Amino acid sequence: MILKLENKITQNRKDKIKNMLSSEGCIIREILDEGRNIIGIIGNCNKSVEELRQLKGVADVMPIKSSYKLASREFKSEDTKVKIGNVVVGGDRLVIIAGPCAVESHDQAMTIARQVKKYGAVLFRGGAYKPRSSPYSFQGLEEEGLKILADVRKATGLGVVTEITSPSQADLMMKYVDVVQIGARNMQNFELLKCVGKMKKPVVLKRGLASTIQEWLMSAEYIMAGGNNDVILCERGIRTFEPYTRNTLDLSAIPVLKKLTHLPIVIDPSHATGIREKVSPMARAAVAAGADALMIEVHNNPDQALSDGPQSLYPEQFGQLARDIYVIAPVVGKQLDFDYLRKSETINNLDEKSSKKAAFIGEYGAYSHKASLGYFGDEIKPVPVQSFKDIFNTVQSGTTQYGVIPLENSLSGSIHENYDLLQEYDLKIIGEITIRIKHALIALKNTDKSAIKKILAPPPAFSQCKNYLDQYPDIKIVPVTATSSAVRHVKESGDINAAAIGSTMAAKIFNMKILEESIEDNPRNYTRFAIIAKEFKDIEQAGKTSLVFSTGNKPGALFEVMKIFSEHQINLVKLESRPMPGKPWEYMFYADIEADLQKESLVPVMKELKEKTEILKIIGRY
Ligand code: PEP
Ligand code: MN
Repeated sequence: MILKLENKITQNRKDKIKNMLSSEGCIIREILDEGRNIIGIIGNCNKSVEELRQLKGVADVMPIKSSYKLASREFKSEDTKVKIGNVVVGGDRLVIIAGPCAVESHDQAMTIARQVKKYGAVLFRGGAYKPRSSPYSFQGLEEEGLKILADVRKATGLGVVTEITSPSQADLMMKYVDVVQIGARNMQNFELLKCVGKMKKPVVLKRGLASTIQEWLMSAEYIMAGGNNDVILCERGIRTFEPYTRNTLDLSAIPVLKKLTHLPIVIDPSHATGIREKVSPMARAAVAAGADALMIEVHNNPDQALSDGPQSLYPEQFGQLARDIYVIAPVVGKQLDFDYLRKSETINNLDEKSSKKAAFIGEYGAYSHKASLGYFGDEIKPVPVQSFKDIFNTVQSGTTQYGVIPLENSLSGSIHENYDLLQEYDLKIIGEITIRIKHALIALKNTDKSAIKKILAPPPAFSQCKNYLDQYPDIKIVPVTATSSAVRHVKESGDINAAAIGSTMAAKIFNMKILEESIEDNPRNYTRFAIIAKEFKDIEQAGKTSLVFSTGNKPGALFEVMKIFSEHQINLVKLESRPMPGKPWEYMFYADIEADLQKESLVPVMKELKEKTEILKIIGRY
């Protein structure tokens, strides 16, 4: 049962309700969900819905229809984010968990951990207690394996995940690892579920070989009822009649679960397919279907692996897969962050709590807001400001540590103002993020699409949705400064004849209705954002350098600079010219190159560049 409390309820009143329910023997959980003030009653309750509804301070009572309560979306509508050290499973950033099926030796685990970390994994997984079909197969190194995992964490900074096969291992798990896994064969081992329910460790709960989604969620409920809410559901293939793969990966479980539960989902394509060459295609599909994380078996010498060698990827294959995922993830609104762990560490080391902020233009729900969450996760608070100049000023003054500025859109081109501001201010680009721009038509909850008489949006959004809008020639178009302000205007006006073009995130934040999704003409609509700060990021090796330079006004001057890049085989990925302030017809060039100009071996390149340019400034290294 869910008790929705009145908005203005006093703490005293709330305590009275809670005490009364507890004395009636009800198990209660309080949740603050999307601003709703809720008490959930799980288990048995002697009071009827009517009796509960009569209680002073209670606005409404809703029964939870599903048999699982704590795990259900009805109980908690916001997605659960499970925190493992600095890693968050369930947010905008995809999490990759990788490692061998079993920890075989110190060397083996350490080698694989270093490799998977290099390629983008943020958690390391290896079994120390192996549930094997045959009692004669390798059973795992047991405590010795756990110790190796703890060493891996210490040496690499990767959080470690391992399977618990018996409640008797709980103390050792608490001592050595960050996440415990319940294997497929133990999904309905209720004593084990109760045991991890009491442990203060996140749990990866694998789906049983022949379990329904309902049974799986009931198992999650066991863990949550015990007091542990950090449950990650892992689909690892179910047993079907199909012999070509070890199991059948049920990817449709992802959208089903997303509707039924708030818990994050990890997909394990390794055990699902059992065959190396099938792992990457299914991993890519899982991301496209909305998985929050992937768990992949990787081995440096799979032919000699003591378990699951045939399904383990070679490290290089895993690296290629990660690169594909990096490209696929933004299509579905997620990000794979190759700099995840270092970034979190830097942020943790920021001394002032107040500076853990990033300025963005517009309001909450703006695409820039989404870019900030995609880049930093929740670790940095996005702060809305009014103009691009405000972003530069707040970063310059130290009011916010970072700024998020859009630089170019794949359809409408560069945002020139920001290139000019990069010239004007002495700030540095420390990162970049590209997000997909997917526009929705958004209106008040009680608006019917046929009632729309006007649509609010900024001019670029109108031009990106031109074909869609051409269908409705009678609807008036009202330009505003940003998509997020368009959504706010419609909300505040209370006008049921108005709609806004904006992100689905804005619709959610302002509690509005999405009349239509993906109304942009071209689905390949991406915006690239730069992250700015006062200082360069402290990294050994950068993949990209951004520079601004000017050349003399003489024939072939720009060509001379380009020639340097060409001769040194340096890939130029962006070149933009901007007028120099106060010098008509003279230009500054802004370039991004795929090289680290600070590198020792590129000192000659820098020297040549200095000779051929008048002004030369490195403004980004990331
Ligand atoms: C494993 O993760 O190595 C394993 C044994 O998986 P499952 O429980 O999914 O078979
Ligand atoms: Mn395995």
